[in-house]
Amino acid sequence: MVARISLAKLGSQEKSQVFGWASGSPPWRRMEMNLETLNVCPLCGTEHIRTVDPVSNICECEPCGYVFDNPRPTIEKLVAFYSQPAKYDTWLSQEQARDQLWKRRLKQVLSVGRPGSLLDVGAGIGQFLNLARPHFSSVSGTEVSESAIEIARKKYGLELMRGEINAVDFGTTQFDNITVFHVLEHVPNPRLVIERCAALLPAGGVLVIAVPNDVQSLRVRTKRFLRTIGVPKFRKTGTLGLPRVVLDGSISEIHLSHFTAVALKRLVEKFGFSVVRNTLDPYYVASGIGKWKQGGYYECCRAVKFVLRMNLYDTILLVARKGISQAAS
Ligand SMILES: [Zn+2]
Repeated sequence: MVARISLAKLGSQEKSQVFGWASGSPPWRRMEMNLETLNVCPLCGTEHIRTVDPVSNICECEPCGYVFDNPRPTIEKLVAFYSQPAKYDTWLSQEQARDQLWKRRLKQVLSVGRPGSLLDVGAGIGQFLNLARPHFSSVSGTEVSESAIEIARKKYGLELMRGEINAVDFGTTQFDNITVFHVLEHVPNPRLVIERCAALLPAGGVLVIAVPNDVQSLRVRTKRFLRTIGVPKFRKTGTLGLPRVVLDGSISEIHLSHFTAVALKRLVEKFGFSVVRNTLDPYYVASGIGKWKQGGYYECCRAVKFVLRMNLYDTILLVARKGISQAAS
């Protein structure tokens, strides 16, 4: 059975909600048929953005340090990419190994979360919520893929809410804990997602975010080094070691944002959160000998983070607690 994302069926207004911009025109101008260019930083709104990697179309905002693709594919092109039927085949084929991944993340959440309810943003087929359910008074999730929603319903008895978090009407409901695992790097406007999370959490509520460590991981640093010394395979790589976004299937994951822990911390603090934990997300999915190798690498990076306070791992996990009063943006 294949989980198929169904964004192609959405209208233009729904697409704008799914991909996270408010009503009205998004803050960019179209440059050419399949690309759009942002004139301002999507996180802080400043015009002080500069291209830091022209080979891979990577920009950086000077005031807030946010690194992002610019220009980038239009929303129509992204929708078509995410609508490919086989895009989510691995969700089910790796179910057992993914159970281990979700248990590792759940352990992290339980160690800092607070009693009460849980909302998982981008819940996929609901595997995490199913494991989390016994530990919370209620669990909820949002998901844009109708097929994933259907699997969650049949497999786990979960009723996920269709759409991106900004498009779902929660009424007056609030949640004690919100998890956002590897969602922010995919949405065109991560700021709106965090803003919405802030509105859905009461004072003291806990927000857990995981994103790739695209700019500062050991892997990308190694790529940059190999490029510098002229290793042929890396000669065409840009200065940051990030791939240029193409939608021809050669890149399986499209990251529109490339967060550092500092940029992410600044973002959540804008909305009244205090960071209470800045660590590594144990994201790996592996079995057999691979599980030990990847687990070993994760533990090594954890030790480096503990001793040197440097995150060289592939991912970032940030836990933030909402303050008593929500700060203005
Ligand atoms: Zn900025």
